[in-house]
Amino acid sequence: MKILVVGCGISGTTLARVAAERGHTVTVIDRKDHVAGNCFDYFDENGIDVHQYGTHIFHTDEKAAWDFVSRFTQWYPYQHEVLALIDGQYVPIPFNLNSIQALFPSTIATRLEEKLLSHFGFNVKVPILQLRQTGDGDLQFLADYIYEKVFLHYTLKQWGMKPEDLDPAVTGRVPVYISRDNRYFQNRYQGIPLAGYTAMIEKMLDHEAITVKLNTPYEHSMKTDFDQVFYSGPIDEYFDYCEGELPYRSLRFEFLTFDRPYFQRNSVINYPCNYDFTRIGEYKYFLDTPAEKTVVSYEYPQAFVNGENERYYPVPSTANQALYARYCEMAERDDKVVFMGRLGDYCYYDMDKAVKRGLYLANTF
Ligand SMILES: Cc1cc2nc3c(=O)[nH]c(=O)nc-3n(C[C@H](O)[C@H](O)[C@H](O)COP(=O)(O)OP(=O)(O)OC[C@H]3O[C@@H](n4cnc5c(N)ncnc54)[C@H](O)[C@@H]3O)c2cc1C
Repeated sequence: MKILVVGCGISGTTLARVAAERGHTVTVIDRKDHVAGNCFDYFDENGIDVHQYGTHIFHTDEKAAWDFVSRFTQWYPYQHEVLALIDGQYVPIPFNLNSIQALFPSTIATRLEEKLLSHFGFNVKVPILQLRQTGDGDLQFLADYIYEKVFLHYTLKQWGMKPEDLDPAVTGRVPVYISRDNRYFQNRYQGIPLAGYTAMIEKMLDHEAITVKLNTPYEHSMKTDFDQVFYSGPIDEYFDYCEGELPYRSLRFEFLTFDRPYFQRNSVINYPCNYDFTRIGEYKYFLDTPAEKTVVSYEYPQAFVNGENERYYPVPSTANQALYARYCEMAERDDKVVFMGRLGDYCYYDMDKAVKRGLYLANTF
């Protein structure tokens, strides 16, 4: 078949590669001037791998996704940790037993630890909603503390609304990890591509049956030249916003280079309660680059405004899901196009889930 893939992000590229290996002829277009979509990175003049759309760590339990991308890159075996500034202390996030020890006097910390261990056991992730339901005053205190210090103000900044106005699933997700494991992810496979994400995507696209066209926005007239279209752009835009715009949150990144070896003590530090930015990422940590200078990005959340900034996070709410469902009904009537990716499926995907969906769709034709 002749296949058109709209979008050179990790979703579209995965599908394009598998389709090409199965003997199809694939054209991949992207309106940007670079491949890799939101995973795009580049090595700056100091040799530091800068992720242009924010810090990206590949992590997964999906062996098929890991095996697939590992055909196109070697890995730096990076294990991600995040610190948050809370009450003047830099503590591990997700909140764990070490965070408790760092923030509370030792008698209170020990009591909270014992209660957590006796209620839930060791090495368990407990959503704070569940922590609130134990009927124990100390655990209620801990849940309220974490809600206020870790979640409430961060959510107000990140989403521009209170946690209770978001989908309850989002609130339910904040866990307390009853463990001394400071890692942000516990996945089996985790790393940073040694030559960067862009190089990995370029290798995926390097196949004789794949043609890549950058600076090329999708037009409906293109459809006639192809048997099947896989569209990883925004589904509402495809249908000319006829039902209204799907809302997103956006981010403004402020990149700064400092003439010093390190800026902060960790790759990512969250500021849930202070400042207008939510976090600062420092890029040399990801590949442990021994440069004399360092590059950081400050992340300022903002509303997505079409034509002015980038779509980053779909806003999870019942109303938005209903709007998305109306576009899905229209999509079902168009049998030449299949939607995919974080914009086509209006769904936050980590990279591995985007790969998984690409691999799945490539098996459907
Ligand atoms: C700040 C931030 C941090 C993240 N960190 C992580 C992380 O640490 N780990 C992780 O696993 N995931 C992370 N992610 C998620 C990751 O970025 C996504 O999983 C991934 O980018 C999804 O790829 P995609 O191909 O679906 O979408 P995209 O990367 O957005 O690719 C879609 C492409 O389609 C193109 N396009 C859209 N419309 C058109 C059109 N009409 N015509 C032509 N081209 C079009 C776009 O230009 C874009 O290049 C993060 C996301 C954000 C926002």
